[in-house]
Amino acid sequence: MPKANPRHPKFPIPGGPELRARGWRQEALLRLLENVLSVGEDPDNLIVYAALGKAARSWAAHKGIVKALTEMEEDQTLLIQSGKPIGLVKTHARAPLVIMANCNIVGQWAKAEVFYELQRKGLICWGGLTAGAWQYIGSQGVIQGTYEIFMRIAERRFGGDLAGRFVLTAGLGGMGGAQPLAGRMAGAAILCIDIDPERAHKRQQIGYLQEIAPDLDTALEMIDAAVKDRRALSVGLVGNAAEVYPEIARRGIVPDIVTDQTSAHDLVYGYVPKGMSLDQVRELRDDGQGQLMAASRASIVEHVTAMLDFQKRGSEVFDNGNLIRTQAKEGGVTHAFEIPIFTEAYLRPLFARAIGPFRWIALSGEESDIARIDDLLLELFPDNKIITNWIRLAREHVPFEGLPARIAWLGHGERTMLARRVNALVAGGELKGPVAFSRDHLDAGAMAHPNIMTERMKDGSDAIADWPLIDAMMLCSSMADLVVVHSGGGGYAGYMTSCGVTVVADGTDDADERLDHALTNDTALGVMRYADAGYEEALDEVAKKDVPYIRLD
Ligand code: NAD
Repeated sequence: MPKANPRHPKFPIPGGPELRARGWRQEALLRLLENVLSVGEDPDNLIVYAALGKAARSWAAHKGIVKALTEMEEDQTLLIQSGKPIGLVKTHARAPLVIMANCNIVGQWAKAEVFYELQRKGLICWGGLTAGAWQYIGSQGVIQGTYEIFMRIAERRFGGDLAGRFVLTAGLGGMGGAQPLAGRMAGAAILCIDIDPERAHKRQQIGYLQEIAPDLDTALEMIDAAVKDRRALSVGLVGNAAEVYPEIARRGIVPDIVTDQTSAHDLVYGYVPKGMSLDQVRELRDDGQGQLMAASRASIVEHVTAMLDFQKRGSEVFDNGNLIRTQAKEGGVTHAFEIPIFTEAYLRPLFARAIGPFRWIALSGEESDIARIDDLLLELFPDNKIITNWIRLAREHVPFEGLPARIAWLGHGERTMLARRVNALVAGGELKGPVAFSRDHLDAGAMAHPNIMTERMKDGSDAIADWPLIDAMMLCSSMADLVVVHSGGGGYAGYMTSCGVTVVADGTDDADERLDHALTNDTALGVMRYADAGYEEALDEVAKKDVPYIRLD
């Protein structure tokens, strides 16, 4: 039985034992599509997160996808082009059920303006990283990543935790909404600015944000008191980051950590320029795109200038993957890239071992299934400090949104081991239903994104998009259930290509084989990508785990 969804009553949360499709694999993908809308930011418009990241191109396309998933046999494959179903072809039961290509525009044409025009004509849509691939699980999807970044900074600069430290950030949207909770979990007093009061209230309602301050003075007093008491606290403030950051700097306050997760990548549908109301911005989105782009860029220039100012005065400042430095540089801030990107600065040693954001979703809708898998994870990896610490914290602090799900940073061999054991639990009736496994597209072998994931790679291979393409083709040959190639939309046009994968553990022997092949090969490619770029951690992983990398003499 689907469950009521108080946030979006028209989009119930799927669950229960009844199948509408002809098998659990198809049913699983249908539930995942329903789930991304149930936890999405603006499901009425099919928008899941990241400004314009959509689950399907249009409601007609959505209807066609639902019909195909409901009626298709296991030996068919549904083809989806930028969120629109275009064919259901006969393949075989070991082939993917769904393959997708979303928002891939030929190189010289891959520009924001071309994307907006193609979108206006209804020919394309951006799938975000996980929206169009039906893998989004709400703000939890990035929470461990954000938490691990804070902890790496804590270890390097602040003696191991963020108690008594002030973190300043902005953006309380689909992904940015993870920041207040991640900051609090790391022990910090974190202030999060968002221009949209609804977003702030939403994060408070679902338990990710504790307080909303009425004005900047009160917000700073609350933060100051928490810092003095070394008390973890998250405070939201409705305001424009391009005004609030410079004002905090003007007052001579130097936060310990500064970042930003507004939708700065999209100057039209994401970032809100200072001095404009949300209604004004919405109007200009239709017929004043040029004006809006110029105004957003001008505000980002001020926003990033304040971030650089904080950096100069000693704050730890980093780009949290929203292209804000790129936008600022194009606006004339020549030294914007003095701000490091989070991947290179904090997480690359993990990615080099293909340790990254792996996720699983209980298709039954039962939280007890996730609790059982949490126990299994602790049993399987008792010596993995990142995992044991994370699961303990996640159990205590992370509320479920939509279908119960968990994210945990696991690497080569670990993901496969966990997924196959879960499949055995499904087979043995120890879980209430099958479980879907996927991962973020921001994963070792899965993404080329020279200003985010692959910035300043050791061998200079930042912009080479062969890796996600090889990943996708390999995953189709490795029995995955859903495989997708995404490229950037909006301001990300021309900046990225990524691959996504989903495999369903339905308790069958076939699923065991699918999980084994797809998940093992996916992380093996991640290790190979970094080994090929010369990273010691990856070469060590190749040797230790017998990764089939071909090393030329
Ligand atoms: P979203 O569109 O759901 O939310 C963006 C938020 O920014 C909104 O709440 C909006 O009101 C707010 N905002 C816009 N302009 C503002 C301004 N000038 N001042 C204050 N608030 C402003 O987007 P999201 O899903 O939260 O993603 C945010 C960004 O992070 C995107 O660029 C996305 O691509 C990126 N991202 C990074 C990672 C990562 O791994 N680091 C993961 C996912 C997304």
